[in-house]
Amino acid sequence: VQFQDLGLKKSILNAINTAGYKKPTPIQNKSLGHILQGQDALVRAKTGTGKTAAFAIPSLQHLRPDVKQPQVLVLTPSRELSKQISSEFIKLGKGLENFRVAEVTGGIQLPALKSNLRGAQVISATPGRLIDIKRKDLFNSTAIKMLVIDEADRLFDMGFREAVTGILKDLPPGVQTVLCSATFTDDIKTFAKTLLRKPVVIED
Ligand code: AMP
Repeated sequence: VQFQDLGLKKSILNAINTAGYKKPTPIQNKSLGHILQGQDALVRAKTGTGKTAAFAIPSLQHLRPDVKQPQVLVLTPSRELSKQISSEFIKLGKGLENFRVAEVTGGIQLPALKSNLRGAQVISATPGRLIDIKRKDLFNSTAIKMLVIDEADRLFDMGFREAVTGILKDLPPGVQTVLCSATFTDDIKTFAKTLLRKPVVIED
């Protein structure tokens, strides 16, 4: 596949070009078409494979510019990862009308967080802080249509399973879900089975 053949919005193609991405990585090759079509996906990929763009590009393609509410939620185990994910979204979403991404992680003061959340269409969050803003009534999930659980194995190792499950429970029905994990443990497989609907399974 070539990026030009995926029917992507012009500004996304331009951003991909500016980023210097000449062709999709193997994991992007196998997953972009399916995720763009709205299919759930179970992706086995380590950092460095281009997995972030594999879910960021379809997310950006499906964003509705007129909706200034969270439409994509990415859950990730750490602040560093959350930052990397939001940087990739910013890089690829440059040029999209009204596009805004907010990091929701520990260490960000509440006033800054509130201002970042204003108009944010993509949320890159750690589970603990997302639950915190839910409690404070600062997270409107009604327009969420895509959920990404990134580094699921690490999230679970860090004890976030219950937090993640609680967050998922309150999302609208019919959300497209992409679950990324470096390893497919039995634990991950079981979780994926209960959560994902007819997922395409992609292994790097
Ligand atoms: P990730 O695995 O998502 O952490 O990505 C690893 C690095 O690869 C990041 O610096 C991305 O910006 C970069 N990258 C992602 N997709 C491509 C691509 N198709 N061509 C070249 N670099 C890429």
